[in-house]
Amino acid sequence: MTATLEPTTTSDAPAATFDSLNPANGDLVGTHPIATKAEVDAAVAVARETADWWGNLSFDERGEFLLTWRSVITRRIAQLADLSNRETGKPHSDAQLEIVLAIDHITWAAKHAKKVLGPHRVAPGLLMANQAATVEYRQLGVVGVIGPWNYPVFTPMGSIAYALAAGNTVVFKPSEYTPGVGRWLADTFSEVVHGRPVLQVVTGLGETGNALCTSGVDKLAFTGSGRTGKKVMAACAENLTPVIIEAGGKDSFIVDEDADIPKAAEAALWGGMSNAGQTCIGTERVYVHERVFDRFVAEILDQAKDLRAGSDAGAKIGPITMPSQLDVIRSHVEDAVAKGAHVALGGPDAIGERFVQPTILTHVPEDSTAMTEETFGPTLAINPVKDMDEAIRRTNATSYGLAGAVFSKKRGLEIAKQVRSGMTSVNSIIAFAGVPSLPFGGVGESGFGRIHGPEGLKEFTYAKSITRQRFKPPMLLTTFARDAKTDGRAAQLITLLHGGKKTIK
Ligand code: NAD
Repeated sequence: MTATLEPTTTSDAPAATFDSLNPANGDLVGTHPIATKAEVDAAVAVARETADWWGNLSFDERGEFLLTWRSVITRRIAQLADLSNRETGKPHSDAQLEIVLAIDHITWAAKHAKKVLGPHRVAPGLLMANQAATVEYRQLGVVGVIGPWNYPVFTPMGSIAYALAAGNTVVFKPSEYTPGVGRWLADTFSEVVHGRPVLQVVTGLGETGNALCTSGVDKLAFTGSGRTGKKVMAACAENLTPVIIEAGGKDSFIVDEDADIPKAAEAALWGGMSNAGQTCIGTERVYVHERVFDRFVAEILDQAKDLRAGSDAGAKIGPITMPSQLDVIRSHVEDAVAKGAHVALGGPDAIGERFVQPTILTHVPEDSTAMTEETFGPTLAINPVKDMDEAIRRTNATSYGLAGAVFSKKRGLEIAKQVRSGMTSVNSIIAFAGVPSLPFGGVGESGFGRIHGPEGLKEFTYAKSITRQRFKPPMLLTTFARDAKTDGRAAQLITLLHGGKKTIK
């Protein structure tokens, strides 16, 4: 076959297929079918038939299946990490770390679905004191999940595990760069739940994703670029299919004057460069208090001196998975340099044919694309700020709002609360993603909806409210037989309850 780095399609075979290739060397990793609209519709129809069985199991029964699956993934973690390493190019140990986090999320979802989604009694209030009121969260039916390639296990699992634990069946369309990982997940799940297509995978390119959007699924959870997210929403609008959009970011990393500088530099370096910078919640901009700016830059350069991209065992950074991203990274770095940024490490020459060497720019003009658009490469733009107000203002001057980090001994929480983003870690990097009980998601162009945590379970359900009359009401209000006397008593009661000038306390 001719090895190109983009997924290639072959239409001379009976069913069209595409290849997934190793971005480190172009080797063929696997060949997968391109699911047509009819095949996607058929998968959704099968998922709908299975939805009753899966949805009618108890939370405990579903939880048992999910925990067994989690154990299978855990026992075969090296195999899955190897596949992810070959499809994404990321170092094996990074691939493993991602799976470790995903395993923890499956476990949390399995163990907490009952408590979060099961029936809860709520106070009926004085007017309805004769009612017992309950709310519970019912599964939607069939959930479609469309995933990206950068974290091909952890990212879609935030939707898949939570949707399954809530009682939905799932049809998953993995990225065309990581179809093998998606297939592996569905295959291992079917070993645990024999003969019942509770989790299915449809492979293909954008058109297959579009087919899933218009297939009539009950909800679509999308993770990927904002550009595709808009297409997904438009396609889902046809059937009024609700969507979750987990899109890109331009996260900032704020360093206060009292921060532990070596620790902050270590975290910023990892936040910006790990996974070759191809992380939605990766660090792209760094704002450092001017009093510690020089010290911070010297420290991060010292820590970066042995860091390099490559495919050998000593390289901690892999290739750029999606070849077209190389042009984006190059254009951002060149734009910054043309506008006057200082190249402290790497720079335009660091961008090769498959790999990008660590690049650190300082004094980057705020209107350059390196500061305004998602770069998705192993690059950091570090700028001095005169105080934390300026750091917050610059951080928030973006259309994105996914996550970020703050390093400060005294004011970490105070600064974190002023950042307009879905998640912030104080004195660490991306810690929130590893806490399964915390919701994960963004604002603005980073998307909406939440995966993970109780909110992530509820995303894949609808609230079902039930009242049960326990005894005859003292005043029957919902009848045409209501008389003037009852109206008078209702007015008296509401005045008594709410007519005064009571405060919240
Ligand atoms: P992408 O938007 O190119 O593709 C994502 C998925 O959408 C793929 O499976 C693709 O086949 C599918 N797709 C493409 N066109 C489609 C269409 N018209 N209809 C339906 N589906 C379609 O994104 P990517 O390059 O795979 O991923 C990188 C992006 O994902 C980055 O912007 C990154 O920040 C973002 N991301 C966000 C999160 C998060 O949780 N917020 C997590 C990981 C990645």
